[in-house]
Amino acid sequence: MNFTTDIVIGLEVHVELNTKSKLFCGCSRRPNKNEEPNTGTEAPNTRTCPVCLGHPGSKPVLNKTVVDYALKLALALDCDISKELIFSRKSYFYPDMSKNFQISQYEIPLATNGCVKLAEKDVRLVRIHIEEDPAALVHPSGMEKSTYVLVDYNRSGNPLVEVVTEPDMVSPKEAREFMKQLISVLNYLGIYDINTCVIKADANVSIKESGYVRAEIKNVTGFKEIERALSYEIDRQKKEVSDGKKLVQETRAWDSDVGITRLMRTKETEEDYGYIIEPDLVVTNMTDEWVERVRDTLPELARDKKERFIKDFRIDKTDAAVLSSQIELGDLYEKVAEKIDPVLAARWLRRELLRVMNYNEIDFVDLKIDESHLIELLKLLSDGKITDNVAKKILEKLVDKPFNIMEYIEKEGLKVSDTNELSKICEQVIKKNPKVIDDYKSGNVKSLNFLIGQVMRHTKGAASPDDVKKILVECIK
Ligand code: ZN
Ligand code: MN
Repeated sequence: MNFTTDIVIGLEVHVELNTKSKLFCGCSRRPNKNEEPNTGTEAPNTRTCPVCLGHPGSKPVLNKTVVDYALKLALALDCDISKELIFSRKSYFYPDMSKNFQISQYEIPLATNGCVKLAEKDVRLVRIHIEEDPAALVHPSGMEKSTYVLVDYNRSGNPLVEVVTEPDMVSPKEAREFMKQLISVLNYLGIYDINTCVIKADANVSIKESGYVRAEIKNVTGFKEIERALSYEIDRQKKEVSDGKKLVQETRAWDSDVGITRLMRTKETEEDYGYIIEPDLVVTNMTDEWVERVRDTLPELARDKKERFIKDFRIDKTDAAVLSSQIELGDLYEKVAEKIDPVLAARWLRRELLRVMNYNEIDFVDLKIDESHLIELLKLLSDGKITDNVAKKILEKLVDKPFNIMEYIEKEGLKVSDTNELSKICEQVIKKNPKVIDDYKSGNVKSLNFLIGQVMRHTKGAASPDDVKKILVECIK
């Protein structure tokens, strides 16, 4: 081992691919629309067939879409692609795998090398391979320590890609960033659906103080959890070492409810799985034409989009990074920036739109307004017809329920008053407040704020406070 950092982290991430059917049979990957998972409405072991139940004599047939999707990911991450697609049996005994083996790839994975680019560094990849999801073990509910476990094969045979990194990450935060970046790429490629696909990571982590003795944490779901689990595990390892204990290589389970990792077993090695080449699947040639055809379908990825935004729209780096981080946000920005000053559009989409969406807990799929609303609103703002404050209020209302912006402004009298009108209101306010004027004239500059407030109230906030101040000072002189 040749590490130098205090913490060393490597990840093995399992990503469920957004296909219609399973990896080796025609069973549907997801429950029917009206039978959503986790609501208990899908009957167990119904979305199954002899192949995904592992009946003797049943033969797997490779789902081509899975290969296309996995290839897309491998190409987007600059991996080397294998010339041949070969599957292997990973043998183990456990009730979640009725065949007593999982069909995976071992000797020759689909892809090797490649990397995921984070803000400050590249995380190198060892490999990306395709494998099937095992069944789900269901612990009878309401029983503290049940004496038996149930198996639901509905999930069995779902298509996964496993992305294995080099131990290049040095903090839980970096592991989190890796997961986020990977999810962003998957979203851009359209091979992962955030609502129906599960992403799970196994994390290898070790610290300098122990001489880098690795623990593997199993089955951590999502990018927030990965940071929590690793932070806990690093603290635990540090404490063990400072208590004078010697760490051994082990596999631990993450308990997200309690927020701790628990010992499962001391680590088995890969040889224990007794891999053999899967004889029921023929070797598939990954022809150059196939690879190139998939490469042609690759969209522009977030990192390229960010650079293009900086170059074409001359917006700042952080704005560009946020705007390109979600494919829908990037698309929306581009449409708005074609019609409105791109810098103004960037500021409003990044700060105000995201603020309002966060506040209302809505996602882009639920967003009811489109570019035409934003263009109209920002046009009114940049033409000086409405103020920042009015634009913000309208945006808050629009996100709730779209409406005709012009009509609304007219009806509510929110248009910036012209100077004449504003002067009249100022004069009225001055007339009504002789005491405040005296106060101001005798040197209390702050009393002007009261007058500004009065004028703003009359205009329902449609005037800019700076304009009002200017006119008031003029009139009082
Ligand atoms: Zn099946
Ligand atoms: Mn795996």
